[in-house]
Amino acid sequence: MSKHIAPTFGQTSFHCPICSVYSEQTWSSYTDSHYQTRNPNGQQVMLHYRLTNFSSAKCKHCDQFSLWLNQKMVYPLTGNVEMANTDLPEHILSDYNEAKDIVNISPRGSAALLRLAIQKLCGHLGEKGKNINDDIASLVKRGLPVQLQQALDSVRVIGNHAVHPGVIDLDDKPETALALFSFVNIICDYFITQPKKIAEVFSNLPQKDKDNIAKRDS
Ligand SMILES: [Zn+2]
Repeated sequence: MSKHIAPTFGQTSFHCPICSVYSEQTWSSYTDSHYQTRNPNGQQVMLHYRLTNFSSAKCKHCDQFSLWLNQKMVYPLTGNVEMANTDLPEHILSDYNEAKDIVNISPRGSAALLRLAIQKLCGHLGEKGKNINDDIASLVKRGLPVQLQQALDSVRVIGNHAVHPGVIDLDDKPETALALFSFVNIICDYFITQPKKIAEVFSNLPQKDKDNIAKRDS
């Protein structure tokens, strides 16, 4: 699985927030722009706008611009979130995309939706899907790799903090939601995409080879 390089201010390459392709970005900034316009009588009027820290990055792949104000992306609004794994089941994909739509407006709401998505994903993978902690424990028994276990444990810890009022609320940070997006994709990749790919490779083998493998295994 290729790593998602989130768009960052000033970076010369990242995954484009518009076409999703990892590509080169050309930056321009408009700290002191002059606009020429005409008044209703047709006389030319020169207007001076001072736009503070307004920048754009043009994607080499799709020729579209992302717009940045004070080093933060303001267009597209959901630009710093990686695309959902296309193997996600439909009902989980819709949670993912809804979380993506609101991440910059409400990181906490976004993180809550993503926790729900992870819980549903655990359910889809044959776990009870009711309690994330139990499901994680069960997935570990099914041979969950250490990195994935740590990822899921962070989800659990982040969630526990969020339900206790007065405790530092990690979910207020967009970074938490951003981490959860990638966890959904990692889990999906490990349990759905990779097995699917392996099955495809096997099914494309010549019948003679498949027979030989079956003979060897019997
Ligand atoms: Zn692009």
